[in-house]
Amino acid sequence: MESFLYPDQYHHIEQQLYRSVSAQANSIDQGVIQAVQELAQEEIERTVRLASPEQKQLLANLSAIQDQEDMRRFLQQLKQYVIPFPIVSDKQLEKAFPKIKKLHTPAIDELDRKEMVYWRWVDKGSGKTCILIPKKEGKFTGIEGYQELSQQKGVCSICNGLEEVSLFTVKKKGQMRGMYSKKGNYICKNPEICNKNLTNIDSLYAFVDTLNA
Ligand SMILES: [Zn+2]
Repeated sequence: MESFLYPDQYHHIEQQLYRSVSAQANSIDQGVIQAVQELAQEEIERTVRLASPEQKQLLANLSAIQDQEDMRRFLQQLKQYVIPFPIVSDKQLEKAFPKIKKLHTPAIDELDRKEMVYWRWVDKGSGKTCILIPKKEGKFTGIEGYQELSQQKGVCSICNGLEEVSLFTVKKKGQMRGMYSKKGNYICKNPEICNKNLTNIDSLYAFVDTLNA
């Protein structure tokens, strides 16, 4: 079977399974457990379009997953069907971040690309935080800005999770030539946590839209 899950869908399944397993660990009421399990199954079937019988089969019997260990094993097996964040060429990177002269990116092959809905790193040369977002047709959107070092508990504008966040500021072209304005949003300090919290890539696109508004 070919890979068919995007990282955000994988995270969504993980989140639903976690809920189901937590209910089984914390409740003795079989009715409650069953309700949570059914809801998890429905949520997954609603958001992940399962095209082939094999795909359906793979995610058909989630109530058999009863504890953390079952969940870990199942997710490990499921991960082989996740479509990883694409390998990006230097040309694509230059196109996404035209204002940064000499881009320094971490080695992408050392990252777990199946966990990545988007890619974020701090560019060593400019000190800027770069966010690379995959779009359809193999294109990318690049967002660059500065992220403050100080952090606090708050809601992240990308993943909507309640996490340690810090202010991320981007410079925006104003309506008049040569004029700029700044726009700040609180986002997760840790990009790995942020990616894990992203269970629907639309939240990421919504974040991009607010920056462009
Ligand atoms: Zn986040």
